[in-house]
Amino acid sequence: MAEVVELGKRSDTKVREAAWAAAAAVPDPEIPVVTVADLGILRSVDIDADGAVVARVTPTYSGCPATRMIEQMVLEALQNAGFGDVRVESVLSPAWTTDWISNEGREKLRQFGIAPPQKTSNSKRALFGETVVNCPRCGSAETERVSEFGSTPCKALYRCKACKEPFDYFKCL
Ligand SMILES: [Zn+2]
Repeated sequence: MAEVVELGKRSDTKVREAAWAAAAAVPDPEIPVVTVADLGILRSVDIDADGAVVARVTPTYSGCPATRMIEQMVLEALQNAGFGDVRVESVLSPAWTTDWISNEGREKLRQFGIAPPQKTSNSKRALFGETVVNCPRCGSAETERVSEFGSTPCKALYRCKACKEPFDYFKCL
């Protein structure tokens, strides 16, 4: 792995900020209302000693088919922003958890109708199937799980007993 240039030159910071902005704006392919930055998938964007942009991403759920697509989209976003020499690296450790989803990202999920994952510190009860998932539409806690798998394997399908609407719950990890 190439050594990353520390803040040696002021211009490096500007370049890096521009690169981060370009990469951070990439939408999640499965849930386009949130970006890879919102989800915490984009770990860092640096400029290496040769001036190449190195973006590091951490896959979400292992085997999630979106991972490859995300790497490709980050690569293309940086190239479209005018960065010629770009690498996207996968960082497997530490492993991604849903705790990395920003508060802004959680709010975007809720507004999109997906119940955001609970912080793991609050979800120990999930092991015993006692997790209360609030309806993203009306906020009711009177919800029931319909299926372990929603529109994608990363989500479970729930139904709200109050407003009768089905919704996806972004599973905790
Ligand atoms: Zn509801």
